[in-house]
Amino acid sequence: MAIDEKVRKTLPELGVTDAAGVEALFADVRIAITEERVALVSRGAASESERDKLCKDLRDRWLARKNGLLSFVDENWLKKSPKELKPFVGRYFNSLRQESAALEIAALAKDVSVQAQTSFAGETSAEHSASTTVSHITRKVPGDLTLPGNRQPLGSIHPVMQMQREIEEIFLNLGFRIESGPEIESTYYNFDALNIPESHPSRDDWDTLYIDSKTVLRTHTSPVQIRSMEKYGAPLHIIIPGKCYRHDSPDASHSPMFHQIEGLAIDSDITFADLKGTLDFFAKKLFGEKIRTRFQPSFFPFTEPSGEVSISCIFCGGEGCRVCKESGWIEVMGCGIVHPKVLRNGGIDPEKYTGWAFGLGIDRFAMMKYDINDIQLFFQSDVRFLRQF
Ligand SMILES: [Zn+2]
Repeated sequence: MAIDEKVRKTLPELGVTDAAGVEALFADVRIAITEERVALVSRGAASESERDKLCKDLRDRWLARKNGLLSFVDENWLKKSPKELKPFVGRYFNSLRQESAALEIAALAKDVSVQAQTSFAGETSAEHSASTTVSHITRKVPGDLTLPGNRQPLGSIHPVMQMQREIEEIFLNLGFRIESGPEIESTYYNFDALNIPESHPSRDDWDTLYIDSKTVLRTHTSPVQIRSMEKYGAPLHIIIPGKCYRHDSPDASHSPMFHQIEGLAIDSDITFADLKGTLDFFAKKLFGEKIRTRFQPSFFPFTEPSGEVSISCIFCGGEGCRVCKESGWIEVMGCGIVHPKVLRNGGIDPEKYTGWAFGLGIDRFAMMKYDINDIQLFFQSDVRFLRQF
């Protein structure tokens, strides 16, 4: 008797009088569902839309509220069940309903046969008579090679990485080279060699993530300055992009992991004029010819003199707006002439060579360029955000 016919009869009409009979009957339903799913896979479809339709048809055949085969099971087997069999019928019907929920997502499933294996064969392990019958049907069916492939969405380059590459490009064209170094760094390279004394507040546990007393997650990309000086000596023209870590709670403008890029130029006769000229050129290349730069005195342990660089506001052109807090300027990076002690720590003679360095936050630049007001968006892997770039 075909399953369509069986579900339209009551248990007494089918001659089912005990629990074993109920079990066998539900096993028949499982087998029928599985067979139809497997047949669908083997049959294949000429297009995505045809496959979606076939999956939907199968789903409706079994699960449609009106005239779906399971609605007949409910009507004829469960509701009209003899009293003594009702608990068994109820139990089997419930688990069947749960399993057949897989049909709901069949249209989305990549390989229908895998679904059939996990949900149908797995469940029957307690029901020995049924599982032996089902297992030979839920064997792995080789996919139909003529089925249309599943389109894999094409990703794009992360906005922070796009920004990084854009900055790199400008300096590569100026003859700089890209250098990198370890993110787990010794306190020597991260602090001591950069003239940051033991007592400096940035070395505090509150600001730095320590692995042990001599090892940190680097708080800036500057340790690579020393490593590169040791490795190549002078002259040296490098940029150092990479991840840095600080003991910051995540909020709209802070992240415990962020991206920095810094530049270092060491040569004979390098002056502050070279630094200003290079950074002014860089800002114009990145944000447009109309951008002006402003240098103001500042302090960093590893440069002397040190400066903060501001650019004329890219949003209002210097007129004053909300972003630049009506000042017309946005502070974007720190810079300075490399401290003689730092050169010496890198094995370079400060009597013969001088150098300049700058450092900036790539995330902040990307936020500025793309007008993003929350740094967390970069790290949440939300496709709705990322696909805009
Ligand atoms: Zn402005």
